[in-house]
Amino acid sequence: MNLFLAKYPSILKKLYPNRITRLKEDKSLYLTFDDGPVPEITPWVLNELKKHNAKATFFCVGDNIKKNPVIFSQITAHGHGVGNHTYNHLNGWNNKTDYYLANILQTEEIISRQNNLEKSKPKLFRPPYGKIKNSQAKTLVKLGYQIVMWDILSGDFEKRISKEKCLKNVIVNASAGSIIVFHDSIKASRNLKFTLPKVLKYYKEKGFIFKSL
Ligand SMILES: [Zn+2]
Repeated sequence: MNLFLAKYPSILKKLYPNRITRLKEDKSLYLTFDDGPVPEITPWVLNELKKHNAKATFFCVGDNIKKNPVIFSQITAHGHGVGNHTYNHLNGWNNKTDYYLANILQTEEIISRQNNLEKSKPKLFRPPYGKIKNSQAKTLVKLGYQIVMWDILSGDFEKRISKEKCLKNVIVNASAGSIIVFHDSIKASRNLKFTLPKVLKYYKEKGFIFKSL
């Protein structure tokens, strides 16, 4: 069984300083949603965020954008940020750099076709499973990407993590500037539907603002 760490290990922060895990800001949190867009859960997430006037960032899988273009366009229409999460949810460790990059560029193409992103904004990339080779990361940075890891994993996708524990993973560990990982995927929806409304309410009452990256 894999070890689950809600908090991003500080040793990795030191090893890979150009991968973002949090931002130095007062009373802001950065919610991120990986693996969508899908009709079963992404519209629900958008609605929850809207209720709390919260902005977030969605790391989308290219194949899901192709299947669900209308939902994808709703994400940006609601003022959220979008990032690249490869076309087929590839594990960088298991794939040759050329193939991995081509898969990312395929997603970049579909994102820019669907969406008139401001060109001045940095392109965001989050590696599926958090697994990316250093050579792959370096090439992406050269291509103008910011590699976004995380500060806090909610564990929403983990079957063995209860919805109460998922909520705790966030509330106990998150602080100003944290980048928090959720998933708009069917697998994560049981924990997400319990946790997300509570996280939004809890931090809003504490005066936090939810921003996109
Ligand atoms: Zn993913």
